[in-house]
Amino acid sequence: MSDLPSFPHDTGWAAPGAGAMLEIDLDAIAANYRLLNARTGNSLCAAVVKADAYGLGAHRVAPVLEQAGANTFFVAHLEEGIRLRQHVAPTARIFVLHGPMPGTQAEFTRHDLLPVLNSMEQVAGWRAHAGQMGNPLPAALQVDTGMSRFGLSDGDVTALAASPDLLDGIDTQLVMSHLACADTPANPANAMQRDRLRAMAARLPAAPLALSASSGIFLGPDYHFDLVRPGAALYGLAPNDDAPNPLRPTVRLGARIVQRRTINAGDGVGYGLTWRATGPRRIATLGIGYADGFLRRGADGGGCAWLGDYRLPILGRISMDSTTIDVTGVPEGVLAQTTHVDMIGPRRSVDDVARSAGTIGYEVLTALGSRFHRAYLTQAA
Ligand SMILES: *Cc1c(COP(=O)(O)O)cnc(C)c1O
Repeated sequence: MSDLPSFPHDTGWAAPGAGAMLEIDLDAIAANYRLLNARTGNSLCAAVVKADAYGLGAHRVAPVLEQAGANTFFVAHLEEGIRLRQHVAPTARIFVLHGPMPGTQAEFTRHDLLPVLNSMEQVAGWRAHAGQMGNPLPAALQVDTGMSRFGLSDGDVTALAASPDLLDGIDTQLVMSHLACADTPANPANAMQRDRLRAMAARLPAAPLALSASSGIFLGPDYHFDLVRPGAALYGLAPNDDAPNPLRPTVRLGARIVQRRTINAGDGVGYGLTWRATGPRRIATLGIGYADGFLRRGADGGGCAWLGDYRLPILGRISMDSTTIDVTGVPEGVLAQTTHVDMIGPRRSVDDVARSAGTIGYEVLTALGSRFHRAYLTQAA
């Protein structure tokens, strides 16, 4: 066998009741934060923990990021912010990317959350709320520099510059935008958005500027401005396809072998019998399926599991709760000792799984299911 560590790392939990085990390496997340923070020099490195820290559990991840030095967090929704507030220091800043929906402004203040104001309606709502509270209230302003998703338009910025009173009571802590093509460094849209951010910010109240998420950080210092907002890179996803991934993997997913059998030439496997054996094969059925976020298309494009150095191809269609693999190449003596195989691990990254399924690592990570037994690994006390 190989000297790659086998599942489970932590022999203290065998989780016989779960179909799969997800290990989340908190030390790797902290190391990734430190790497990004070091790489961005004087720019403040915030941490994006929306979607429950990309599916990994914001209640465990955020405190670890805080320990590593993060004091500014981003979530997408108010509800996410309210939940996160319980798990970080009172001094931590939490920005809510989607901003206040009508009638929710008081919730932001109550839970000490900072809205990102994306539209003139949100600006007006926050200004009115500040008026009611009788003191200036902090917020970020987002400007749309070309992605056409969130943020004030050029016309909106012109209107605000002409009537600064529209921003009365708003303490602008950040002017931000978001890159559409940061994962393709050669794309001219990157520089265009960067220049637009500068031009639009020049017509707004002076405030720190922010543009880059994970991939943008790797476009270089010209894209760092005063604050960066990595999410995916904290969790180990590759910033782009142009260079080796400098980040540490943070998850390992082991699926339980539920049953093994030998099949003969001509036997079919799975729904539709789309895969047929051309000779005798030893196969194993795993307790993980598409209901666990293991996308059906993951069987195409070379999808496989690993056991140490043994590559175990996925056979036929992935079912809701199970996946079948070919274990013919593994000696019986090894298999007899094996309870789990790696779906994500040292030989197969989240990005590899995504490539097989025709999607991106973000989707694989955030889809990882709630049925897994989860274990958080850390050496820190
Ligand atoms: C999700 C998001 C981020 C983080 O993006 P990554 O690519 O995961 O680093 C940063 N900023 C905004 C506005 C986002 O929506």
